[in-house]
Amino acid sequence: MTQPSVGLDFARIGISGVRLEALFEAVPLAIAVFDGDLRLVNANARYRELTGITAAPPTRLSIYDAFPNALADLTDQIDAALRGATLATAVRIPFQHRAGRRLIETIFAALTEESGGRGILFAGNDVSEREELRETLSRSVAQLESIFDVIPDSVRVFDTEGRTVRSNTQALQDHPAGQPSTLRELWQLDRPRTVDGTSLFMHEHPTARALRGERVRGETLAVRRGADGLQMIIEVNSNPLYDEHGKIRGAVTVERDVTVKTQLAKALEEEARRTAELYERVSTEAERLERMVQERTQELLALQEARARERRLAAVGQLAAGVMHDVNNALNPIMAAAYLLEANAENPTAVRDYAVRIAKAAETGAATAARVGRFIRQEPLQAEREEPVDLSVVSDEVVAMTRPLWAERARGGTVHLECDLAQGAMVRGIAGELREALLNLVQNALDAMAGGGTLGMRTMTTDSEVKLEVRDTGIGMSAEVRDRAFEPFFTTKGKAGTGLGLAEVYGIVKRHRGYAEIESMPGVGTTIRLVFPKSSPQHVTDVTNTVRSRVARRVLLVEDHPDSREFMQALLESDGHQVDTAIGLTDAMALLEQADPAYDVLVTDIGLADGSGWDLTSFARERWPSMRIGIVTGWEPRVGAGADGDFILRKPVRTSELLAQVAGEG
Ligand code: ADP
Ligand code: MG
Repeated sequence: MTQPSVGLDFARIGISGVRLEALFEAVPLAIAVFDGDLRLVNANARYRELTGITAAPPTRLSIYDAFPNALADLTDQIDAALRGATLATAVRIPFQHRAGRRLIETIFAALTEESGGRGILFAGNDVSEREELRETLSRSVAQLESIFDVIPDSVRVFDTEGRTVRSNTQALQDHPAGQPSTLRELWQLDRPRTVDGTSLFMHEHPTARALRGERVRGETLAVRRGADGLQMIIEVNSNPLYDEHGKIRGAVTVERDVTVKTQLAKALEEEARRTAELYERVSTEAERLERMVQERTQELLALQEARARERRLAAVGQLAAGVMHDVNNALNPIMAAAYLLEANAENPTAVRDYAVRIAKAAETGAATAARVGRFIRQEPLQAEREEPVDLSVVSDEVVAMTRPLWAERARGGTVHLECDLAQGAMVRGIAGELREALLNLVQNALDAMAGGGTLGMRTMTTDSEVKLEVRDTGIGMSAEVRDRAFEPFFTTKGKAGTGLGLAEVYGIVKRHRGYAEIESMPGVGTTIRLVFPKSSPQHVTDVTNTVRSRVARRVLLVEDHPDSREFMQALLESDGHQVDTAIGLTDAMALLEQADPAYDVLVTDIGLADGSGWDLTSFARERWPSMRIGIVTGWEPRVGAGADGDFILRKPVRTSELLAQVAGEG
């Protein structure tokens, strides 16, 4: 090792040559020493490594050749050192090294030699790595900074004193009128409140809390921001910033504008609430309506029931009153006659007279009872008693029977007949009852046509039904009358009516499993239609034959009641018989005696004006034993009365029974 010829007085600073040598090699610098002639006199290993000059010992190399791989000119630095600038500034110079480009901080310093000449010290510090790190760092910082600026949230960094050290672009726009430089100024401008409206103290601010070491997450605040200081809702996150020793150095606060989001959420919430409310209201309304409908229906049903009950009771009352009235009408003369009978018990003529009156009154009562009975007995017929009946034939019969009475019943007017009778209008039932029903309809039609009109009779058949219509061009019925016409004792005819005709029709039709309909218009006319189930057609011939094959009889009919007499006469004549009539005992006896040949049949009423029917029957029985004798009475037939007559008919006489008995079929 050669002694350095440079002018450093190492001995003066207490460093021996050997120790100096060691230091010279140990420092992390490339060092070269040049003498006054600018010739290299000493250099360490790092210099050799840097420059690639390996010649040892260095061969008095000129300073200008000592840095062959420097990529910049060093002359200015060397000149400056030669001029004596000892505090030379470091200049960064790139060197081409075998491992690549290195950046070296170079210093050329003047040295004063003992000889008084000037030497130069070179020191080179390799700063490549440090520089690289610095570059990487600044790139990262630049990246972070652009991220910091680009995020749409307001980001602010505060130091421990609460001063704003950084604000991103968004944060700068929060208060365009004046930038808050501290947390306190920000707080004053923001005037923050919690969502429930409570204003926030400074120390409660999320940033203040972060500066005390708290991590604040998702705090929602209302603040005043923007040029107009409008209220805004922000969501705040704030974090303390620590240094490498865990000491708080500041805080970073990020605020997000959630005004729109909050408004939307609120609107949504409101919408949901309104929908729920609406739903609630709609469903309760629907429930209410349903309940109302139910209640109304109940009310209506109850009302209907009450009305029906009222009507039933009214009908029952009417029926009872009607029966009472008729019974009283029958009882009054009976009681009067019974009283007179007792008073005149000694007088046989008077006794007979009162007895006859009593019998007549009772008959009237019985007739009413029978008619009401036909209304009341609506249960279907017993099969044994039914026969096939042709309604067209029955219609013919009723027309024939009643025709003589038409003009009188229609109060003198002319009645035209329109008949439209179908073939095979067969029903199963009792001919007498059906005839009775039809008779009532015809009588009503005639009553309605005072002054004349047209009477229509029509039968129709369908696959399953047989219909019978009686039509008139009379006064017609009001709706109220039409509704009540079938009620027993309902009449608009005052004393002239009984109110039992249609009630009877109703009962009879019901018993025949049918129904009745009324079509009527006041002032135009009325059609009453009876509808029955159709009977099987095999019986058609049977019946017509039976009806038509009856033997014609010579009949004497004794009856003092003109209606009844005329009716029975018409009925018997319609069946092909020859009928004479008498109104009393005397007449009848005279006719019986005159007759030649004798009558085949005698039909007599019991209560006659001039005597009892029983007297007539015994008289006839004695004289003409083979004569068929029939008694018509309103009384219950006496036990053993059959001895006096061949048949007994109860009033009101059933037409079928009368015809059958007279024909000898009973
Ligand atoms: P009555 O004939 O004794 O009054 P009905 O029972 O036969 O009793 O009839 C009841 C009521 O029906 C009659 O009083 C009348 O008002 C009405 N009526 C029946 N048939 C007719 C008809 N063809 N035209 C108009 N009204 C009628
Ligand atoms: Mg009538």
